[in-house]
Amino acid sequence: MPHNIAVLGSTGSIGTQTLDIISQFPDRFRAVVLAAGSNVDMLIEQARKHRPALAVIADESKYGRLKEALDPLGIETAAGDEALADAMERPDFDTVVTATVGYSGLLPTIRAIRAGKQIALANKETLVVAGELVTRLLRESSSTVIPVDSEHSAIYQCLKGEDTETVKKLIITASGGPFRTWTREETARVTAAQALNHPRWHMGAKITIDSATMLNKAFEIIEARWLFDVAPEKIEAVVHPQSIVHSMVEYVDGAVKAQLGIPDMHLPIRYALGDATRLPSEERPLSLSDYAQLTFEKPDPEKFPCLTLASYALTKGGNAACIVNAANEVAVAAFLKGKISFPGIYDTITDALGHIPYIASPSLDDYVATHHATIEYAASKCRG
Ligand code: NDP
Ligand code: MG
Repeated sequence: MPHNIAVLGSTGSIGTQTLDIISQFPDRFRAVVLAAGSNVDMLIEQARKHRPALAVIADESKYGRLKEALDPLGIETAAGDEALADAMERPDFDTVVTATVGYSGLLPTIRAIRAGKQIALANKETLVVAGELVTRLLRESSSTVIPVDSEHSAIYQCLKGEDTETVKKLIITASGGPFRTWTREETARVTAAQALNHPRWHMGAKITIDSATMLNKAFEIIEARWLFDVAPEKIEAVVHPQSIVHSMVEYVDGAVKAQLGIPDMHLPIRYALGDATRLPSEERPLSLSDYAQLTFEKPDPEKFPCLTLASYALTKGGNAACIVNAANEVAVAAFLKGKISFPGIYDTITDALGHIPYIASPSLDDYVATHHATIEYAASKCRG
């Protein structure tokens, strides 16, 4: 019997790579739900190929086109955020790959957790926005999470078979992004095109900009804190420009375990879909002799101030990381449109942190309200 899968964000970078893997293992995996934001043409094409039971488009204005194309194939269709979240409760799949971008992943992931689904978690923002609440819901549910983010997949693999009490440190590697060697003055003038040109990974636009500011690494520290239930002071980032060592775990006896591989998201996606087992790969294998050297250096928080937001948000707790995430979503979109400068992204986030009321123990409604209030505030500051 194939493993039935819902792909949330099927038209994106992670979503399309997930469908590659589903196609590679037709006896093992079947896409039962495909959901996208607004790229209706790609969604229709994917549905024609994968024949899911349901295709959902978040953008309701595209619904007519989706329905017209898929009705003749007997594929159910739906539109809107609510329909997308409702789809998480369908009984005809057991695993969901959460590959939408930003805050849009939160509510569907919570619904999937409540429905006891297995989660292949790509959408790190879910744990950034509401990590405490989400991990509490996970403890109360039969749902389990296997990370897709390459660093967290590496740590998950390094922790397998180990006693978590013996973990001394999680070491998250970072490529350093396109501006690793630039001065602070130079990065003040970078354009969107320069920031979108990541040296190692081809990803969606938002995470590519987050990698350039290194806020992505701050998000990954927050993600690791919740995923692995490790105290924030035991998590550190190290810059490793070749992106071959995907992350490491140091143990109390001094041993450090690492997972290595070429920079290709197919591996962590395949590992998560295969229930943390090893399925054969069609990608080029890692050949260490192709690399003259693997280097490691300390990150520079003076040059990349967004990095400091991880310890700030984790120390403060409550809705602080939710504010960081929402302000960043607005700031990244504004930077991509040329409305604010590259350093303006950090400034927008700190401005919002100083303005939006802090809530120490937020409920789900508080997170939702914080998100929307921050979006509104940050948008008023980024009008340009
Ligand atoms: P992309 O921008 O490439 O894709 C995003 C996907 O989400 C698209 O399918 C898009 O649909 C969909 N989407 C956007 N907005 C909404 C919405 N409001 N409701 C429903 N669906 C929506 O992003 P990535 O694939 O790069 O990233 C996805 C997630 O995975 C992010 O959280 C990112 O941090 C994480 N991640 C990504 C990695 C990568 O290598 N790309 C690595 C590690 C983590 P459409 O295009 O149709 O509008
Ligand atoms: Mg990552």
